[in-house]
Amino acid sequence: MRALTLTAHGGLDRLAVQDLPRPEISAPDQVRIAVRAAALNHLDLFVLGGLPGVTLPFPHVVGTDAAGVVDAVGDGVSHLAPGDRVVINPGLSCGTCPACRSDQDPFCRTFRIVGEHQSGTAAEYLVMPGRNVTKVGSHLSWTEAAALPLATLTAWRMLTTRARVAPGEAVLIWGIGGGVSLAALQIAKHLGARVIATSSSDAKLAVATTLGADLVLNHTIVDVAKAAREFTKVGVDVVVDSVGEKTWDKSLRALRPGGRLVTCGATTGPMVQIDIRRLFWFQWSILGSTMSSMGEFHAMMAVANQGKFTPIVDTVVPLEQGRKAFERLEKGDQVGKVVIEVSR
Ligand SMILES: [Zn+2]
Repeated sequence: MRALTLTAHGGLDRLAVQDLPRPEISAPDQVRIAVRAAALNHLDLFVLGGLPGVTLPFPHVVGTDAAGVVDAVGDGVSHLAPGDRVVINPGLSCGTCPACRSDQDPFCRTFRIVGEHQSGTAAEYLVMPGRNVTKVGSHLSWTEAAALPLATLTAWRMLTTRARVAPGEAVLIWGIGGGVSLAALQIAKHLGARVIATSSSDAKLAVATTLGADLVLNHTIVDVAKAAREFTKVGVDVVVDSVGEKTWDKSLRALRPGGRLVTCGATTGPMVQIDIRRLFWFQWSILGSTMSSMGEFHAMMAVANQGKFTPIVDTVVPLEQGRKAFERLEKGDQVGKVVIEVSR
């Protein structure tokens, strides 16, 4: 089968399309998918250079998200059959430990991510545990379906389980343009919240308005904290911040007393300061979040299959030119997801 692989850690020059053996089902709970499209995440750029503590065998198939058609199922799989149109949850967990049994899969001792800790999705065939595979409606194209899981799941856990966004609350989302922030915007609107979205690009802010943002702010020319306080009178209920060092102080200044800051990343740097007196006086909550549980996977997909979320696809690149997808991701000016078309 054709696959986009990393031949060693390094840069884009280590990417190569090559023929690999087709993976076979080796356990009763597994499903094999004929992959139609695979999507990239920021994580895929980190995998190029190598992640601390993760040793990969090469060649390593890249890609973390996938959509495709079920090709074969193990004897123990009853919820799927060959021909089903599916997406995957790239978060792998054991399914039997106390964390998994209480729907806290990201705390599973064996938690790992497809494409990061093991072979990824940008290949003609992919074998997954059946519990990580679910049906997706035909209202989404293959590229949209592939763009859905990781970013939408990450945003889903941030806004529902972690920040518990309620109808009428005000949510500030930094840096509209990436998959997670665009998904967070759609989920916040689905939850009945008012959304303030920021970007350095007016074109991206126009997309945010189309998706229902109530206030858009160009953060290169507007004092976001001040504008957010003016808009809400007291400050926002929730800030979604995956930017890190550059936005941390502004995020806190935008929060109302009792507000929540939820983070899933630190693209401009991980080290920030906090005045503990302000933290306790204003009774803020600082919440970390990553990936999602199986319960969240099914809850998010139930809403997605009602047509509530449309993943924004920035670029579609054929598998044979997969390197171009990474170049697009590395540039960082995309609006939405970068998707690899694996087969038709
Ligand atoms: Zn577990």
